[in-house]
Amino acid sequence: MATIRTVLNYLEEIAPSAYQESYDNAKLIVGNANAELTGILVCLDSIEAIIDEAIEKGCNLVVAHHPIVFSGLKQITGRNYIERVILKAIKNDIAIYAIHTNLDNVIYNGVNSKIAEKLGLQNTQILAPKKGILQKLYTFVPKDKANELKKALFAAGAGQIGNYDECSFGVEGVGTFRGGEGTNPTVGDIGKRHQEAEQKIEVIFPAHLQSRVVRALIQAHPYEEVAYDVIALENQYMQVGSGMVGELAEAVDSQQFLKNLKEKMQTACVRYTNLCKKNIKRIAICGGAGSFLLKNAIRAKADIFITGDYKYHQFFDADGQIIIADIGHFESEQFTIDLLYDLLMQKFTTFAIYRTSVNTNPINYL
Ligand SMILES: [Zn+2]
Repeated sequence: MATIRTVLNYLEEIAPSAYQESYDNAKLIVGNANAELTGILVCLDSIEAIIDEAIEKGCNLVVAHHPIVFSGLKQITGRNYIERVILKAIKNDIAIYAIHTNLDNVIYNGVNSKIAEKLGLQNTQILAPKKGILQKLYTFVPKDKANELKKALFAAGAGQIGNYDECSFGVEGVGTFRGGEGTNPTVGDIGKRHQEAEQKIEVIFPAHLQSRVVRALIQAHPYEEVAYDVIALENQYMQVGSGMVGELAEAVDSQQFLKNLKEKMQTACVRYTNLCKKNIKRIAICGGAGSFLLKNAIRAKADIFITGDYKYHQFFDADGQIIIADIGHFESEQFTIDLLYDLLMQKFTTFAIYRTSVNTNPINYL
C-alpha cells in the first residue's frame, strides 16, 4: 500500500522544498499525507476544473506546479476560485501538493532543464546560483575509522560537488581527551589524558540535509562523544538557482531560431525585441516569469533570453545587448507536466498516474 507521503518523499528528492524561493508556498497545501493513495493527477494549475478531473479519474493526489494558495486564508467560504478549490478538495478527500520554485531551481529534472531539452541546449548551467544553501561539517575520527565514517557521510548525502560525489578532505593530527566520571571512552582510560592519532574530515552538504548528515555521523563515529562543527558557507551552490544558460550545437540565424522556438515550445505567440544579434548560439531561459534574470542573462553573454510575463517597459531593458523573447508563462512551463508525469511513471507502477487533459492557461490568443 502506498500513501500520499510515499509520492511526496520522492518529489522531495527530485526538488527539495528547501530550495523554493522565500515568497513561495511549495508544499502539501491540502490533504492528509498518510492517506492511502488512489491515483495522481499532474497539472500546472490546480484550479476547480482540475479537482473535478481528479474526482472523475479517481485520483486523491493533485501534483501542481503553481501553489493554489500563496498567502494566508482568513476565511474559506467559496467567494473566489482559490477558496472554492480548497473547499472542493477537502470535501472530496483530495490532496494538493505544489512543486514550484524548488522545481524551477534544480539543475536536473527541473522546469528549466526540460525547456533546455526541448531546445536542444548543451553545457547547461544555472543562470543565478543560490547562496546560503551549503554547509560544511568538520569532524575528528581515529585514523583507522576514517574511511568507514566517510562512507556513512557520503551515503547521507554529503560530499557532492557538481557531478562529483564522495568529495572530502582529510588531514592527520593528534586529538586529546580525558574521560570524566561516568564516561565510557572507546579508547584510553577514565581520568587520564589520552592522545589519539586522528583524521580531521571536511565535507560539504546542502543545509536541508543537516540532520540526516549529523545523524549518520553520530551513528558511524566510534566515540561516545563526537566532536564536530557545522559551518554555514557563503558559497554559491552551482546546482541550485534560477534560470539556466546553455548553447546550441551550432549557431542559428536569429529569425530562423524564433521560428524554431515557436514550434518547439508550441506557443501561439512569441513577443520579442529587436534582433540585435544576427545568430543565436548561447541561450538563457527561465520558465514562468523571469524578467528579474535579464542582467544575469546579459552577464552570461546569452544572445537571447527566453521567458514569460514580460511587460512593455521591461522590453526596453534589452537595450541592444540581448534579444528578449516572451513565449508566454503557461507555454514556457507546459512541458513541466510531462516532466513530472515521466518522473512519477518511472518510479511508481502500482497506481494510476495521469497528465491533466484540461488546458489551464487563463490566456487566449485571437
Ligand atoms: Zn509559473
